[in-house]
Amino acid sequence: MPELPPFETHRVDNQAPNFAPRDLWSDDIALREAVQANGAEAFADDIARYGQVAGDTLLALSFDMHRDRPRLRSHDRLGNRIDRVEFHPNYHAVMQAAIGHGVAGLSWCDARPGAHVARAALSYLHYQVEPGTSCPLTMTHAAVPVLRREPALREWAEKAITTRYDPRELPIADKTGATLGMGMTEKQGGSDVRANTTEATPLGADGEYALVGHKWFFSAPMSDGFLVLAQAPGGLTCLLMPRRMPDGAKNAFRLLRLKDKLGDWSNASSEVEFTGAWARRIGDEGRGIATILEMVMLTRLDCMLGSAALMRMALAQAMHHCRHRRAFGKRLIDQPLMRNVLADLAIEAEAALALSMRVARAIDAAPRDPREAAFARIATAIGKYWICKRAPGFVNEAQECLGGNGYVEESLLPRLFRQAPLNSIWEGSGNIQCLDVLRALAKEPETGTALWNELQPAATASGIPAATAARLRAPLVERVPVEENGARRFVEELALALQASELFRSGNPMADTFCSSHLQEGHRLAFGTLAEGIDMASILARAG
Ligand SMILES: Cc1cc2nc3c(=O)[nH]c(=O)nc-3n(C[C@H](O)[C@H](O)[C@H](O)COP(=O)(O)OP(=O)(O)OC[C@H]3O[C@@H](n4cnc5c(N)ncnc54)[C@H](O)[C@@H]3O)c2cc1C
Repeated sequence: MPELPPFETHRVDNQAPNFAPRDLWSDDIALREAVQANGAEAFADDIARYGQVAGDTLLALSFDMHRDRPRLRSHDRLGNRIDRVEFHPNYHAVMQAAIGHGVAGLSWCDARPGAHVARAALSYLHYQVEPGTSCPLTMTHAAVPVLRREPALREWAEKAITTRYDPRELPIADKTGATLGMGMTEKQGGSDVRANTTEATPLGADGEYALVGHKWFFSAPMSDGFLVLAQAPGGLTCLLMPRRMPDGAKNAFRLLRLKDKLGDWSNASSEVEFTGAWARRIGDEGRGIATILEMVMLTRLDCMLGSAALMRMALAQAMHHCRHRRAFGKRLIDQPLMRNVLADLAIEAEAALALSMRVARAIDAAPRDPREAAFARIATAIGKYWICKRAPGFVNEAQECLGGNGYVEESLLPRLFRQAPLNSIWEGSGNIQCLDVLRALAKEPETGTALWNELQPAATASGIPAATAARLRAPLVERVPVEENGARRFVEELALALQASELFRSGNPMADTFCSSHLQEGHRLAFGTLAEGIDMASILARAG
């Protein structure tokens, strides 16, 4: 018998080491600069602490809670309805960490300017590692200004902004902290909520109603309360529907089933039926859409931040892999064509973050400055449209940088990829955002003025090309209406111009490259099509 070579095949060569633990704050130059450029420097230490926790403990917890999806328990063993969703224990650990660090409440419990920007940075860090829990965190954050309108709901607002996570099913009086959800979408219409058929029948007492109807999408159904739209005698109305009644009894709604979703697995999204559920009115009857709009604007900000976060995490993974993997005699990051792909991704990710944080600053300043309020009103729709639209293609490109490893769960990229389309669908899909931009320009001309003022410095410095500025001037300043069928073309150009202007204003070293690549001729549809002569080395050095 010939002697066989030693039987040892399992050598691991040329694979990138583990990505985590990572300090997501100190590794992210763009985030640190954006926090400073948008007036939240005072909160830097708090954000830094969360960046460390998120890239280490929370990232480690996130895998199992994503794989082991929430389960609906409609009945107990005796047949009583309980309508409860059970989560993997890591879900509660991650929620506790997030609420404890202010991801849901910081902007409402700290009166210093910049608190909204700081909370946005926390939300951006959180979304990078566990986007599923971002849904209840975002809705809780966004519900606060609506709850604060109604004096009878003060306790709800106070408990929504604490740093205590309390998952117990108890009446609000017995809770140490509270989370909120929202119910607008019904089977027959989500974008067009005027088509809602759920009925709110006034009970004897002032402001109290009984709800009968259904909601087709109802996420985070274990929340303590829900802002719901329903038809009252005076028209579509916003109401708070608690999970538990003041005496501890279960409120009259049933969870019918959980959605079997493409992604977002750690978060439960349900279908629900209201069978006479008790609710309290917020605002006047017939003013439901206007009342809930403030919540919707804040959730749209978080969609932007979430998509920017997905880009950042996907880019960081791609950079990590390409720094360690060799092919054809060189590290991937030294291959010229791969450098172009990574640099192009890095520019897109920075532009997404820059615009998101600029909008957060406008929301922060809005109560003190009507021009910022007008800017926030319209820039939220513009940013939500464009940044969320870019995320799925971006994540796919980053996945490709990892080759086959990027298609395998352990790499995180499949989870990011499944999550990526969601932000463009919920909270108003793409067309709805674009139509909202046209509506704002037509009905609130101060929004056009605010946008034009914002773009001016970059236009004057020729960062925004003259032809682009001229095209945008007509609808923004001269109020020339944009046809509906041209709305996407218009909003895309507006979004790119806003990203350029924010990169300029904040002194971002990529500003010139962004303008030449994204606003002037030359950039093609795929990533990795930056023109020759661009300083890739400094772009890649910033990307981490
Ligand atoms: C995972 C998940 C969780 C969700 N959680 C919640 C929740 O907790 N609470 C809640 O209330 N909702 C929730 N939603 C619902 C979500 O907000 C809606 O799906 C979304 O608003 C779109 O509504 P729709 O599904 O009825 O689609 P439609 O309104 O039917 O829209 C379909 C398409 O038509 C387009 N469109 C609509 N009108 C026009 C027009 N006039 N011109 C051009 N195009 C148009 C839209 O942009 C969209 O692309 C969730 C959705 C998902 C996927």
